[in-house]
Amino acid sequence: MAGIDQHAIEAAGAIAVAGEVVASGEHDAPALGGGDAGGCAAEITPAAGADLDEDQRPAIAADQVDLAPAHAEIALDHAQAVPFEMRRGAFLPFAAACRGGIVVLCLHAHEMTEEFAALYVVPTPLGNLADLTRRAEEVLRAVPWVAAEDTRHSGPLLKQIGSSARILPAHRHNEHEAAARIVERLHAGEAVALISDAGTPGISDPGARIVAAVRAAGCKVVPLPGPCAAITALSAAGLADEHFLFYGFLPNKGGQRRHVLEGLRNHAYALVFYEAPHRVLETVADLAAVLGERTVVIARELTKLFESIHSGPLTAALAWLEEDANRQRGEFVLIVSGAPAGADDGEGERVLKLLLAEGLPVKQAAKLASTISGAAKNMLYERALALRG
Ligand code: SAM
Repeated sequence: MAGIDQHAIEAAGAIAVAGEVVASGEHDAPALGGGDAGGCAAEITPAAGADLDEDQRPAIAADQVDLAPAHAEIALDHAQAVPFEMRRGAFLPFAAACRGGIVVLCLHAHEMTEEFAALYVVPTPLGNLADLTRRAEEVLRAVPWVAAEDTRHSGPLLKQIGSSARILPAHRHNEHEAAARIVERLHAGEAVALISDAGTPGISDPGARIVAAVRAAGCKVVPLPGPCAAITALSAAGLADEHFLFYGFLPNKGGQRRHVLEGLRNHAYALVFYEAPHRVLETVADLAAVLGERTVVIARELTKLFESIHSGPLTAALAWLEEDANRQRGEFVLIVSGAPAGADDGEGERVLKLLLAEGLPVKQAAKLASTISGAAKNMLYERALALRG
């Protein structure tokens, strides 16, 4: 490795602004994303006054640094973000590795300037800390402010990654004031990261109002992809439904819950619910009663020690949960397959109710309602039994 000695490499973490990545054309993103060794997709130009030793500059200028591993780093980390920021000649924390795969150049995150005065929406792990993405970690270390749902909960995470950001409380009871404070910080040219206790902010979590206020104030919102319990569960559900409908938490009260489920019953999409352990039994019982014969996936404690993913008939799910108290512990995503073909679009049930009200026996009412509406007879029969109670 000509021109850069071991000592300089080990000290690289302390280099302030060592260089600037200059994109050479519109097609740099794919070139970087592909991890192509080319060595020409980006060129390193030592910035004036960079803290590099005399003998390091020639090494870079003379193109003796192998940028292939650096491309790989960038591809993993900033395939999207870096090219965007590079075109503006701005700095993002990045590392370029030299032969041997050792980092030699680091731009420090605190180089963030007004160009970065945006609200970064940052997903955090559901349980496994290793699921914090590298980009999320960099942003949380770089921003001066983190708006967090629960400061006690997020404090240890921020400490662990070495973030010295100040925390702004942003929970469901103060979203309005939190949004105003965040907009103030953004107008002052400071970047703010928004996090919730776990997963993606704004998904059954506070955040949507803050994002709306920030956008309404004309400030930039930068979403980072990352952990989300619904998407994680869906990826392992193996349900063939082409579409899904994310509902989140159903109402706590049984009557309201069943009413909502009635409204969802005819959708041909997989239905995705969040549920807490103390309500999982009653919710699964209602799902079975209202939605009937379908497949349910019960994803529990995702990414954690006792992660379990069970798939089976919805009508047998309650018994399965009751068999073992451990199956009722932890956090849940419940996914129910969509309404089967021949499902009622509402007309079958409307007719069925009329016929039952006229005093027709369940079987006859179901048969007639099926003939009139085209909805499946068996399904209407089950429904008639439920309606008759
Ligand atoms: N914003 C989060 C997200 O992106 O998934 C969701 C927050 S919501 C307040 C919390 C609910 O998400 C839990 O009650 C549970 O239904 C689901 N959840 C969170 N972590 C989970 C995990 N590790 N396993 C299964 N479900 C989880």
